[in-house]
Parts: sequence; structure tokens; C-alpha cells
Amino acid sequence: MSSSEQLEEFMNGLIRRNPGEPEFHQAVHEVAQHILPFIQANPKYEKAQILQRLTEPDRIVSFRVCWEDDEGSVRTQRGYRVQHSNAIGPYKGGIRFHDNVTQSILKFLAFEQTFKNSLTGLPMGGGKGGSDFNPKGKSDREIMRFCQSFMTELCRHIGPFTDVPAGDIGVGGREISYMFGQYKRIRNEFTGVLTGKGLAFGGSEIRVEATGYGVVYFMEDMLAQKGEKLEGKVCAVSGSGNVAQYAVEKLLALGAKVITMSDSSGAIHDPDGITTEKLAFIKHLKEVKRGRISEYCDEYPNARYLDGKRPWGVPCDLAFPCATQNEISGEDATLLVQNGCKGVSEGANMPSTKEAIDTFQKARIMFAPSKAANAGGVAVSGLEMTQNSMRLSWSREELNQRLRAIMGDIHRKCVQYGKSDDGHVDYLKGANIAGFVKVADAMLAYGVI
Ligand code: GLU
Repeated sequence: MSSSEQLEEFMNGLIRRNPGEPEFHQAVHEVAQHILPFIQANPKYEKAQILQRLTEPDRIVSFRVCWEDDEGSVRTQRGYRVQHSNAIGPYKGGIRFHDNVTQSILKFLAFEQTFKNSLTGLPMGGGKGGSDFNPKGKSDREIMRFCQSFMTELCRHIGPFTDVPAGDIGVGGREISYMFGQYKRIRNEFTGVLTGKGLAFGGSEIRVEATGYGVVYFMEDMLAQKGEKLEGKVCAVSGSGNVAQYAVEKLLALGAKVITMSDSSGAIHDPDGITTEKLAFIKHLKEVKRGRISEYCDEYPNARYLDGKRPWGVPCDLAFPCATQNEISGEDATLLVQNGCKGVSEGANMPSTKEAIDTFQKARIMFAPSKAANAGGVAVSGLEMTQNSMRLSWSREELNQRLRAIMGDIHRKCVQYGKSDDGHVDYLKGANIAGFVKVADAMLAYGVI
């Protein structure tokens, strides 16, 4: 059987077993295209059916979450925790609150997380959780009641040696604090059961910055591989949450020019470049005022607002999608390449569609998939767990150095497994194989479980 026939047969079976879950199919396809040929060349994995086993989560918990809104109405949401694989450590991965959360989205995220966490070199398995709760426009007290209700059920499924959730879209420091408080209260236990905690109660320095910084460090390493630098590069960033904010901060620190950011309503294009002061305005707008990015153009009239649009039509040297899944379509990718974009580092999870990835790879531009490029966040979460276990805290400098070293290591592994004879590096292939090998070897060692 040819490798494309083999992939088709594998995907047909997966789609049959997991109907109506397009995001999960997409994430598995992205991995299986490289892992199937790798398995064929390494038959020990084939005999043990490692890929088949890895595409079935260990378990999925789904539960009702009831809470009362400020008007006193009872609201019902669905909560989930997908525990994908604990082959190399406790389940680890974020919690997402967004009205588009489905089982398919959390399964794709948990699957990706297993490979990402393996790439960090730290002992963490993969998981993901969340709810279709929409935090937009909710009061602080509504957020608190929802988080407490969510944790009242979740707390029986997690633990510092079992499953350690963190933040993701819609879940930041405020939500983690409410959930940690509730866990501590119900279990009468102060443990490192969540990461992304406040600094006063077991949180780690650099955790908020880590994903955004890591995405830029990875681009720095890809450029260095080609003898190039970030300095002077024109960058398009999407998103305006935690990942985007700290990616922009690091890009500015390294001398790049950032001309776009966005939110779910639209994008801003600032031809003069987003400066440190302008970034502070966005941070305040998003973290304190919880307003819309369009307000940037009222403050800085030279910028234009692209209503309902993403930033990919704006010419740039490098693109940093830091908003959400499938935010770069095939057409967006064609536009980026036509406009001279030479590299993409994914800050969000799976922001490029299959067509977009095909376009980037055909154009042979640098493409860093999220499981490698955005692993800095979960890596520092792993270091938060280490500090909690040791009952001490490392300094900012120490953590930033460790983060930098981990991102460099991930880049090296991608090159090791993804470099072809002509010197071109397929970072997607490299990340998939490097992430797979460690998990697969652990699974082989355990026998059939
Ligand atoms: N949600 C983040 C991710 O996608 C972080 C997960 C964590 O820190 O556990 O990797």
C-alpha cells in the first residue's frame, strides 16, 4: 500500500469512529501524515498499534455546570476534561471557556498537547478541558460563580499527580485563582493542582509571558538557522490576548516592527508600528477595561481598523497567528506568501488550516507548528510544577533562561527529525516525529494497557 493510501485508510477509520469532529480529524491528519511513514520504517511501533492507541483519549469526562447570573436566572453549561495520555507524566493542559467549545475542539487540543508536552522534554502527559461558557460581557461575580461551580465537579478528576489544568482562551489569572480557591476549599489541600496561579500563592514568574516569548524565540532560532535576524523585520500578529501581547513585547525588544493585532471583531493596522507605549494601551484595554481592539484607532488615528477582518492581507515579512484555531485559510496563506511573508510561527493552537499549511510548505517558507512554537507556555507551567514540588520559587532571570533553553532544544529536535538532504527543514514533520518518539517509547515499555 502506498503511504497516501495508508493515510487515507487510517483517516477513514478515524472519521468513522469519531463522527462530526472535524477539528479532531484535522489535528490527527496533521500528525498521521508523518507518523505513518515513520512507523513503517520502525515496525516496533506498528506491531504495538501505537498510533491507533494514541488517537483514542484515555478518557473524556463531561458534566453539567449550573450557575446563577446577576439577574438570578439559572444557567446551564457543559464542562469537559479530555485526559488524552499520561504515558510520560500527569495529564497537563489548559482549560478553555468559549461559546464555540465542543468535544471535537477539546479532543484536538488534548491530542496536540500530548505531542507538545513531550517536545518540552518535561514529564507531562496531555489533556485539555473547558466549557461552552462565554465569559464575554460577564461580571466578575458571574465569572466567580461559574468557575466555582465548574471546579466543584472537576476537582474529583484532577490532582497534582493526576491531572494539572491551566489557562487557555477565556481562562487567565482571574479564572485560575477562582478555580484554585475552590479546589483548595473542597479538598482541603494546598497543592500545585493548577498552573498559572498568582505569584502570592504558588505561581511562577514568566508564566504569563512564556507562550508569547517562546513563539518569538522559536522564530529567532528558525531565522538563525538561515543566518538571519529578527531585527528590522515587519511582523503581522493576530490576537490581543496574553499570547499576542507578549509576542509583541518580545518582538519589539528584539528590534522587529509590529504592524497589526486583532480580536474576534476585527484587526488594527498601524503602519507606524505598535510601540511599547501603544502595547501598554492594548494591555490595559484588554486586561482592565475588557474593551474591543477597534478603540485603538480612536487613540491612534494613523491606524486603520479592518472591521470583521484578520490581518493576513497586510504585507509583512513574518506572521504570528496568536488568536485561535483555523484563523489562516488557504486564501489567507496565498496572500501572505504573495505579499512576501517568509516565516510563520504559530502562537495559537492549530491556527493554520490544512490548505494554509500546504501553501506554506509548497512555497518552502519557514513554518513553525503550534505544538513546537507555542510550547513555551506549558513548559513554564511544567517549571511551576517543579517549583511547587520543591516549595521554592525561582527568579525571573532563571526562568527566562530555562524557557530560552527549552525553546532552543525544541528547535534542535525539529531540525534533527525534519531536515532533508537539501538543507530545508520541515518543522511540522520534525515536531510530529520528535514529539511522538518519547510518548511511543513509554507506551512500548508499558506493554498493552
Ligand atoms: N493552554 C496552553 C497550551 O495550549 C498552556 C497549557 C498549560 O500550561 O498547561 O499549551
